[in-house]
Amino acid sequence: RQELYRELRKKPSVTRDGVQVDLLMNAGLAVDLPQLVESGAAGIGLFRTELQFMVAATFPRAEAQEKLYRDVLEAARGKPVTFRTIDIGGDKVLPYFKNATQEENPALGWRAIRLTLDRPGLLRTQIRALLKAAGGRELKLMLPMVTELGEIAQAREIIEREVRHLSRFAHHLPTSLKVGAMLEVPSLLFQLDELMKAVDFVSVGSNDLFQFVMAVDRGNTQLADRFDPVSIPFLRVLKQIADAGHRNDTPVTLCGELAGKPISAMALIGVGFRSISMSPAAIGPVKAMLTELPLEELEAFFADNLNQPATGMPIRALLQAFADDR
Ligand code: PEP
Ligand code: MG
Repeated sequence: RQELYRELRKKPSVTRDGVQVDLLMNAGLAVDLPQLVESGAAGIGLFRTELQFMVAATFPRAEAQEKLYRDVLEAARGKPVTFRTIDIGGDKVLPYFKNATQEENPALGWRAIRLTLDRPGLLRTQIRALLKAAGGRELKLMLPMVTELGEIAQAREIIEREVRHLSRFAHHLPTSLKVGAMLEVPSLLFQLDELMKAVDFVSVGSNDLFQFVMAVDRGNTQLADRFDPVSIPFLRVLKQIADAGHRNDTPVTLCGELAGKPISAMALIGVGFRSISMSPAAIGPVKAMLTELPLEELEAFFADNLNQPATGMPIRALLQAFADDR
């Protein structure tokens, strides 16, 4: 298997019928960077910047942040990297930064973009470090846990202010700057066209989106096998997102655990995703599936099955049978 995956690294990332699908990797620390070459990933689809904060004893200084971001961009050698602004709160706690309010539901609480918009100093420092590290290169920034479009506008203001600040001091700026949002909160599903127009790209955080769509705690082992993302309702959600991206010419990707298992990756491609980001170890197995995938047949499969009444249709089993038959 490992041999096969190594061979596949040199092969184009296309389906059997020649449609390109970008396979990117998730990362978060400097130790992950060698995986970029080893996995053959097309880039980093999700760089979780909060990990540097989580392994530290106190807030990492601006210089340390800038150094990490620069190291990441150097290691990427021109491959695209998407940096997510710090996603703390919820399941990601910093021991040295306690919320003064006792939260009964931290997953629904003061976290991610909500927290950084309330503590703009944190966001400003990070944005400045990212802008400096990406001088002369492309920079892609992604905002976690967006709930309403106003949050994107507010974050953009902070970003633009930092850009103006750096250019005033004649800093070397990024050659291009793209701002995207993570789609993790169901409220965005009801304003998809507006969302697509408000950003340069969207990335579905399927771990959180599934948690909120199904009302199931992502960390609760008692419920871990109870509901399936490879199910008619959730695949319909994902298809609507992919369709809205195509309709608005906004690149859409997905960077949750779902992208890392061949059968669910196949479902994602079938409903229209052309870019997915996963743990580096998953790239080999997913690429092995991709290069064997007859996409036109899979699209016909979904056209037949996704609009059927959802009453208990075992779409995962049908997909598995589709894969086994081929
Ligand atoms: C997600 O929610 O799917 C995601 C990629 O972000 P995280 O797992 O870091 O919350
Ligand atoms: Mg998330």
